[in-house]
Amino acid sequence: MKDLPRHIGLRNLLADLLVEKGIENENVLQAIRKVPRHLFMESSFEQRAYLDNAFPIGAGQTISQPYTVAYQSELLGVTEGQKVLEIGTGSGYQAAVLCAMGVKVYSIERQKELFDHSSALLRSLGYSIIQKYGDGYKGMPAFAPFDGIVVTAGAPLIPKALMAQLKVGGRLIIPVGVDSQIMTVVTRVSEKKFTKSEKGAFKFVPMLKEKER
Ligand code: SAH
Repeated sequence: MKDLPRHIGLRNLLADLLVEKGIENENVLQAIRKVPRHLFMESSFEQRAYLDNAFPIGAGQTISQPYTVAYQSELLGVTEGQKVLEIGTGSGYQAAVLCAMGVKVYSIERQKELFDHSSALLRSLGYSIIQKYGDGYKGMPAFAPFDGIVVTAGAPLIPKALMAQLKVGGRLIIPVGVDSQIMTVVTRVSEKKFTKSEKGAFKFVPMLKEKER
């Protein structure tokens, strides 16, 4: 599949729709206009790649809805050159959007099939992302601290290890809940102090423990 002028047109329309839905951050909107989402999906879904919907990506997982990707990226509140850790690489689309925002991206995926596929795809599209095959509950202590951490699967709880890997002033964006999730923003206000604020309800695939299927 290629990236054609009609795809660019559809992306511009998608970005306009996200503005209508409340996304304001220009850096996020520019990234949505740039990243060829159809290349992150199975070819049979190509026609629907620029609708604001989630779609299956194999291994029982989904590529998040564009609004959710944009909203989580906006909540991070990061600027160019800062470091963000993503939990749940999946298709690689959210990682590519952050990369297009000029952010230095680190991403963890626990399913080998998705890790292999997204690594090859992101490299072939020229996105430079540090990827790890492993358990997102542990984060990436070797590369910590991060200006932002974004979890793209529904978490039953807020992992302490992730909080510990935030810079002071950094934010953890995490959908918390089992059947449905509340988008939660945890801000590290000092070395020892964290504040929490809750946003709207969302629906994510579950964040699983290492041996869970
Ligand atoms: N950000 C992705 C969304 C993928 S869905 C995208 O843009 O396409 C959530 C992903 O989280 C799935 O790929 C799933 O395998 C992964 N995941 C679930 N539990 C995890 C864990 N404990 N550690 C790392 N990844 C996990």
